[in-house]
Amino acid sequence: DQEIQQLVDKTVRCIPNYPKPGINFRDICPLLKNIEVLNKVIDYLAGKINFEFDYIAGIESRGFIFGILLSQKLNKGFIPIRKKNKLPGEKITLEYKLEYGSDIIEIQADAFKAGSRILICDDLLATGGTAVAANELIEKAQGISVGYIFVIELKDLKGRERFDPKVPVIVALSD
Ligand code: IMP
Repeated sequence: DQEIQQLVDKTVRCIPNYPKPGINFRDICPLLKNIEVLNKVIDYLAGKINFEFDYIAGIESRGFIFGILLSQKLNKGFIPIRKKNKLPGEKITLEYKLEYGSDIIEIQADAFKAGSRILICDDLLATGGTAVAANELIEKAQGISVGYIFVIELKDLKGRERFDPKVPVIVALSD
């Protein structure tokens, strides 16, 4: 656990004042470029999953990158959770509050059968607002969120405290 923490910590780059002044952005691009570290991160995260699930739902857009790698590794289908008006066909939509204003995420209405067990994936957990919204969207689509998986958690923001405490949260780096 410590080895992977250090590896991710070393590989992810901090960009100060992006996208806004005062924000220290974690840039995962150097990690994506480093195939050795990327493989280790995916192997590590995949190895931490000790529960049954049917699909991985990745949150646009960096959740797609890690979600699809995990879904291939674990031989499970991948479902995209997208920003508004990106998916064709019938959709289920959820509007959620941001610090300023609101945002909309969507999933295809026929993405999974009612009662399906869904693992929610994103690159980074900050305040938890995005992942909480993804969970609500899954529930609205009659799925069951059985876990959350992130490469990085910004632990001081306590995002995980907003999740159901019974649902496991898997991270490679808690920073
Ligand atoms: P939250 O909703 O506050 O937990 O923010 C998490 C969402 O914002 C995720 O979709 C992340 O991809 C994105 N995000 C927030 N901060 C960062 C960062 O420092 N690096 C990369 N993505 C971030």
